[in-house]
Amino acid sequence: MSGRTAVLGGGISGLSAAYYLCDNPAFRAIKIIEASSRTGGWLRSRVSSEGVIFEEGPRTIRPRGPAGLNTLNLVDSLKLSEKIIPISFTHPAAKNRMIYAGKKLHTLPNSLIAMFKVNSPFSRPLVSCLITDLKAPQLIKQDESLYSFVERRLGKDAADYLISPMVCGICAGDAKQISVNFLMKSLFEYEQKYGSIVKGYVKSNWEAFRSKSNKTDSQKSNDNDEITSYRRAENEKWSIWTLRGGLEQLPTALADSLSSHGVQISLNSKCEELTFTEGGVELKFNGKTEKYSRVISSLSAKNLAPMIHHQHPQLANELIAIPSVTVAVVNLEFVGNVLEQEAFGFLVPPNEKLPILGVIFDSCILSPRNSTVLTVMMGGAWFTKNFGDQPSKEHLLEVAVHHVKTILHIEADPVAHNVAILKDCIPQYVVGHEQRIRGIENYLVKHKLPLFLCGSSYYGVGLNDVVLSAKQAASAVTQQC
Ligand SMILES: Cc1cc2nc3c(=O)[nH]c(=O)nc-3n(C[C@H](O)[C@H](O)[C@H](O)COP(=O)(O)OP(=O)(O)OC[C@H]3O[C@@H](n4cnc5c(N)ncnc54)[C@H](O)[C@@H]3O)c2cc1C
Repeated sequence: MSGRTAVLGGGISGLSAAYYLCDNPAFRAIKIIEASSRTGGWLRSRVSSEGVIFEEGPRTIRPRGPAGLNTLNLVDSLKLSEKIIPISFTHPAAKNRMIYAGKKLHTLPNSLIAMFKVNSPFSRPLVSCLITDLKAPQLIKQDESLYSFVERRLGKDAADYLISPMVCGICAGDAKQISVNFLMKSLFEYEQKYGSIVKGYVKSNWEAFRSKSNKTDSQKSNDNDEITSYRRAENEKWSIWTLRGGLEQLPTALADSLSSHGVQISLNSKCEELTFTEGGVELKFNGKTEKYSRVISSLSAKNLAPMIHHQHPQLANELIAIPSVTVAVVNLEFVGNVLEQEAFGFLVPPNEKLPILGVIFDSCILSPRNSTVLTVMMGGAWFTKNFGDQPSKEHLLEVAVHHVKTILHIEADPVAHNVAILKDCIPQYVVGHEQRIRGIENYLVKHKLPLFLCGSSYYGVGLNDVVLSAKQAASAVTQQC
């Protein structure tokens, strides 16, 4: 018995879940319930007064692994592949990543030779971190913070100047709180299984190399049959990609495709309560109650928790324990090329105690007309500490412009800007996240709840991760119902 499915949230994961569910004609009775007046969630591509794209949310996507393959296949099936702008590994935006430390910008080593040299702010060649790792004793643990893992295995300089800024870049988070067993699972497992990161890396890559060489010729030629975007990404060695005209086209194309398949998208509909009944689930929104056979929630765990608390307080408490942080995004446009170096951008290690997390050089990625476009990310795990509870957009703009001009030696003022405060936009996978997720999954199975979860609170914060989580939720629906 298939019945009707409600999808909570019309961001990229809710739309994707509905899209994958539509593959099965028995499950096409779907309604997406979206609180705001638009679909797309954090994906928002605004056009500046000068006509360039200001991305408020995500801007680049990695093409690698099963999740990267899945998103590129989605792009192909939505006929958006002609809009892809690929950035290869040799492009400056892929090669040059900088950190700002000690009042200076430093380019992180990006070649094997550079690993053997002393590059400031490090006081030793980065290759010596590997020797530190080989000498460090193995500790058997369930989980720990990324900072403490890297400090223990690779040294304090790697924890301060590599991992801490990287965590700011991935999830605007504090490496001292984020789980290594979740965010860098393979490195953690290398120590747990083989005693060190280096030993684990060598052993597992040797095994992968052997299984690759054992592939039969027929398997190899089958791999090359279809020229998909993923195949192009592999052949042309893409590091990242984006869409000409902005990434928001992805949810827009999804929403158009869903509408053409008869999926209802109910905007301005904030779901307030879920009540599980004998035959399914009742949803309360816009002052009415509607009955469904099941619900896929793409909402953040924090938003979902209060809706189910009256019936399932234990599950709600687990969900509410997944925190999220607020990020202020300031897009700036300057006339002409005002950058001294082409790069992806720079990150600021938290121990520098500056009020910005980093700056992305959008115009290096997208090469627009004669202008420089930068995006300043601020706040994250330090939002309230740096800006209080309700900073004004004017203040955030002032802080962003001041730091950008000082750090990048820019004299001119921006000719266009956009300021957005994205409240609770990035979930934080704190130490113990994996065990918490297993607990939530077990609870849903044990209580046979017709509730399926996807979105960034659970299995990964990147766009690829949430699209794959949506596909898995849709597949669980068709298998279980
Ligand atoms: C600033 C920023 C930069 C990022 N950069 C990148 C990047 O470069 N690359 C990358 O891969 N990833 C990036 N990400 C991550 C990526 O954007 C997210 O993983 C993705 O957008 C999450 O999508 P989602 O659909 O799961 O959630 P959301 O986009 O949050 O969608 C959830 C939807 O649910 C709605 N909703 C909330 N409450 C209710 C309710 N009660 N009833 C009904 N509807 C409700 C919301 O209005 C929203 O539309 C970035 C994220 C941010 C915030």
